[in-house]
Amino acid sequence: MADVARLSINTATLHRLTLREAIEACARAGIAGIAPWRDRLQECGVAEARRLLRTHGLRVSGLCRGGMFTSAGWLDDNRRAVDEAAEIGAECLVLVVGGLAAGSKNIADARRQVRDGIAALLPYARAAGMPLAIEPLHPMYAADRACVNTLAQANDLCDALGEGIGVAIDVYHVWWDPSVEREIERAGRRILAFHVCDWLVPTRDLLLDRGMMGDGVIDIPRLRERVESAGYRGALEVEIFSAENWWNRPAEEVLRVCKERIATVC
Ligand code: ZN
Repeated sequence: MADVARLSINTATLHRLTLREAIEACARAGIAGIAPWRDRLQECGVAEARRLLRTHGLRVSGLCRGGMFTSAGWLDDNRRAVDEAAEIGAECLVLVVGGLAAGSKNIADARRQVRDGIAALLPYARAAGMPLAIEPLHPMYAADRACVNTLAQANDLCDALGEGIGVAIDVYHVWWDPSVEREIERAGRRILAFHVCDWLVPTRDLLLDRGMMGDGVIDIPRLRERVESAGYRGALEVEIFSAENWWNRPAEEVLRVCKERIATVC
């Protein structure tokens, strides 16, 4: 099973904590990495977050998130996201690319906007030395969050756009895809992040009912072995949106269970 030393906690898992509290909780639990969301980062202040991360020696497996290329103001916001990611030493900036533009029914057009948006952002990200990680999202989010819905689509974008771009593979979004193992192999060294949680049956909420690893139906070890065979050596990032369950438990308990499950079912 997986090595606990590679565990990183996405702050969505500790939704009720400030970034300072999340950093301190991870450090107390002996967890080596964290992946903040930008709202929590901005509340904390980027310089203060950088100081806290260094004090506690935490790796930053990614910053969530840039993207939303079909929304107004996307370019300035994404450049700020690149700057923030660079300042806190993030290993990548995760891109949730955006869904349909307001009032649109044209998903092909949305996908073109996403490709053009990433292409426009890339020179800035390359100059900052910040890799961009396209995260394909499950198709149930195509309208409102991300119109890149398979790893094949994300790989196609990487092929088209060249250096400085890769993928974030989240088991929750890709586990169902019959092409996933082939596309993991194709992604190869472009895999920049690996997110874990589980798919519960039944799932009661499209966004906020993710399961703890081992409580659902995803064969996480198999996907982890595939990404490692493809060359990935980065963090195992736990990202659990769970309004009715894990968000209501003490952080110490959540982190203890994450460590156990990484060691036993991942
Ligand atoms: Zn994710």
